[in-house]
Amino acid sequence: MYPNAVNALKQMDVYSDIAKMASFPSLGKYLNSKGKVLVEMNVADFGPGAEAITVHRHDLQKVLCDKALTLGARIHFSKDCWTLEQDKDSVTLHFADDTQVQSDIVIGADGIHSKVRKNLLNDGEPRYTGSFAWRGVTSQLVSYPPNLSLMVFGRGKQFGATPVGKNRVYWFATMSDERGHRDRRSKSDVLKYFGDWTDPVNELIDATKDSEILTHNLYDRDPALKWGEDRITILGDAAHPMTPFMGQGGCQSLEDAIALGHCMKVNSNPVEALRDYEKMRQSRTSDFVYQSRKSEAMTMSTSRIATMLRDAILPMVPSKLLAKQLHTLANYKMPEL
Ligand SMILES: Cc1cc2nc3c(=O)[nH]c(=O)nc-3n(C[C@H](O)[C@H](O)[C@H](O)COP(=O)(O)OP(=O)(O)OC[C@H]3O[C@@H](n4cnc5c(N)ncnc54)[C@H](O)[C@@H]3O)c2cc1C
Repeated sequence: MYPNAVNALKQMDVYSDIAKMASFPSLGKYLNSKGKVLVEMNVADFGPGAEAITVHRHDLQKVLCDKALTLGARIHFSKDCWTLEQDKDSVTLHFADDTQVQSDIVIGADGIHSKVRKNLLNDGEPRYTGSFAWRGVTSQLVSYPPNLSLMVFGRGKQFGATPVGKNRVYWFATMSDERGHRDRRSKSDVLKYFGDWTDPVNELIDATKDSEILTHNLYDRDPALKWGEDRITILGDAAHPMTPFMGQGGCQSLEDAIALGHCMKVNSNPVEALRDYEKMRQSRTSDFVYQSRKSEAMTMSTSRIATMLRDAILPMVPSKLLAKQLHTLANYKMPEL
């Protein structure tokens, strides 16, 4: 979570609980697959007071759920929403278990394959970007430095790792393949493509149980001009799915939540508040969709020349310049909750 997301967590008053389970990687290192250091960056380069934290999704969700419960929310798990329709007074949601619920408004935060979006916009499936990712978490490799965020670049391949709480390391490995992951889900599949990379890539993959490895094709969408209608809106990946090459998908979802909360607070008309929220968020999230695509094009290039140029040029770029973009994120002026 980059500094903009940290600011959102602080506004939600959940930061101190999340910090107890998180890591604070203060050193960023970019290597090539043979171990040559291309860039070293310090979080301090992001700007004064900026913080980046890494947290396991499970821990983040638990703290957010607990906070919602203390505020009086009722949470129902395993309710699969299939369709919804609205009239001028309410929205009715229909679930897979044949139940239905009526609500004043609906916020579809149901991810990249959002049913709420499908019902509302019916704008087809998200676009496969040409890359897929493996993700893993291991608690076996205690020698991994607790302050290190690592990015390793290859040709059409990338590996990243960071601690996520005490004695746990999260890693991801992305690969270009127009045909998708084609069921390459196991540790031996990852080792086949990354096993000869510099330490600690091999060690991290090897220390991870097969059951702790997830495999996903990566998708995004062109930004949509419309996110909602009357009493319905969408948020997060449902509204603006982006590739993970800037690590901003979750961060932008948290920013959405703050903006929505703000709009609902300052405008007592909920339908107007939903439209205010959409206006506030569309331009910023569209920028990240496009920037993430550019970042993917640079990171995942399969061209030998482009890869050699990247490895030659990156060490010449001052780390402060690379941190400038992150500095901009850190300084984003968020609305007040
Ligand atoms: C490989 C990879 C690495 C990433 N790295 C980062 C990173 O470092 N930093 C970052 O900020 N982001 C990252 N992201 C992106 C991030 O994971 C997403 O942007 C974020 O999870 C979006 O949150 P969301 O709440 O909108 O959707 P989700 O997290 O997908 O949550 C959607 C929820 O809706 C539920 N749901 C789905 N359909 C229905 C239905 N029909 N009815 C009811 N419920 C439903 C799902 O069960 C789920 O709980 C990464 C993504 C990938 C794939």
